[in-house]
Amino acid sequence: MTERPQALAAWSWCEAGELLVRLPAASSRELDIGPDPSPESPGTWGAEQQQRLQQALARDPASGEALALAHQLLCTPASPALQASADQLRAQLAGDTVTYVVNRNLNFTNLCLQHCGFCAFRRDPGEPGAFWHSFELLQQRAAEARQRGGTELCIQGGLNPEARLQGSALRYYAALLTALAEAAPGLHLHGFSPQELLFIAQQDGLPLQTVITELQQAGLGSVPGTAAEVLSERVRRRLCPEKLSARAWCAVIREVHAAGLSSTATLMAGHLEQPADRALHLLTLVALQQRAWQHQQNGFSEFVLLPYIGASAPAPLRQRVGRDQPDPVAMLALTAQARLLLGHWFINHQPSWVKLGLAGATEALRWGCNDLGGTLMEESITSMAGAQGGTCQSVEALEQAARSLGRPVRRRTTLYGEVAA
Ligand code: SF4
Repeated sequence: MTERPQALAAWSWCEAGELLVRLPAASSRELDIGPDPSPESPGTWGAEQQQRLQQALARDPASGEALALAHQLLCTPASPALQASADQLRAQLAGDTVTYVVNRNLNFTNLCLQHCGFCAFRRDPGEPGAFWHSFELLQQRAAEARQRGGTELCIQGGLNPEARLQGSALRYYAALLTALAEAAPGLHLHGFSPQELLFIAQQDGLPLQTVITELQQAGLGSVPGTAAEVLSERVRRRLCPEKLSARAWCAVIREVHAAGLSSTATLMAGHLEQPADRALHLLTLVALQQRAWQHQQNGFSEFVLLPYIGASAPAPLRQRVGRDQPDPVAMLALTAQARLLLGHWFINHQPSWVKLGLAGATEALRWGCNDLGGTLMEESITSMAGAQGGTCQSVEALEQAARSLGRPVRRRTTLYGEVAA
């Protein structure tokens, strides 16, 4: 049983405890092993199973039935039938139009006090490759993004205990947003993962709700759902034991949604996790979305699959996983499985071209995705991990990718609205 971090409200901690889907102890071993698809009885997923899964999710995503069906789906291998089912559901829920956003990533520092097992981005002060950008430099980049037609800044960084103004972490983060809003008025500020938000609150000994409210007042428009990794404690214990717990991630997300902010949802996959862990993660996302909608909150705006990149990752995990780049077939299967499992609870699905390359992301559009993400203009976290997808895409390249599939393409705002002409 994890302890409630003091910054979290009792209500969000309590809701997170209800909504986080866990593996029943008795079924753990059975679900770890999973079905054994053999040539005689290949794993299949048909319309009947899909209907049963969606009915089970509507009743209770934490039920044994939902977990068993989700696990069955997540053990279904890549096949033309799986691809077609996911593609059909994408067309039904999101239509044929492929969307993208013109945005700029701002990774403002990689100084970080944690040591996640997969992270090639973090540095200690003074270490080669360490950076902590000034507000002036970030403002220049923000202004440049606006000149280039950007509508969004995506702001994330390491957990740097020195990032304070007049002794306060919250003042530093609020001042960063204010500075960016001044330099690039009108751009949507999408920033700070649940881990970063909790870090700010803990640094200042404040309730998370105070942090969220003050950042909203400084211009925060929505929150990236990163730091979720895999919402399975047994994976987190090995992958990122210093990070906020799965339950704490859910509690932060509940407070973000309750404050009226949307967030994205992510899954980092292709490392230590089993199909059962992926099932827990995706079922938890459904439970969180259901709770947000019950309260007339916007909840999650999209689901983003983030394949693990091992090329420059710390050696222990890299050796254990034994693969430096994502397995493309496995990631396409998971793309389709996620579309099928998340059903009408998540309309928008996005692949990561940074991790898969643009060709890989374009293929993912045939396996359930409807969005190509952003232009980014710069990217540090995944490129430092050794990803080969690049750090910037032009509008033309993204539009050409969609058109190569014969699909219409549309520029969107962060929250999938129309971009003003
Ligand atoms: S993933 Fe984030 S929190 Fe973890 S070590 Fe890297 S920068 Fe720090």
